[in-house]
This record gives sequence, structure tokens and C-alpha cells, in this order.
Amino acid sequence: MQEIRCGNCSKKLGEGEYITLAIKCPRCRTVNHLRTTRSTSASHRASDTKVLHSEHQ
Ligand SMILES: [Zn+2]
Repeated sequence: MQEIRCGNCSKKLGEGEYITLAIKCPRCRTVNHLRTTRSTSASHRASDTKVLHSEHQ
């Protein structure tokens, strides 16, 4: 879970999980537009395969 805080006055607005969110701060009335950038692993794969040759002699 993530803490959602106001970008202007840093009041805690809530917590949870979101991708995109627009939330209005009741204290300072700033509308906060929030977006999470998830690190998507296992999406870019294949196409170029690197073959590692480790030869120790
Ligand atoms: Zn605020």
C-alpha cells in the first residue's frame, strides 16, 4: 500500500493502491494528480538473445 499525500501541504489524504488518481485536498484545496509507474518486468524479453561465452583456461 502507498501513502497518498498532498503535494502542496503534505496532508495525508489516504492510502491504497492506484494507477492514476485525482484527489482534492480538503485542507488547501489543491487537486493532486497522482500516477504510479510500475516497473513491469518480464514484458521486454526475447528478440535479442545474448549468448555469453565465458571461457577460462
Ligand atoms: Zn493540501
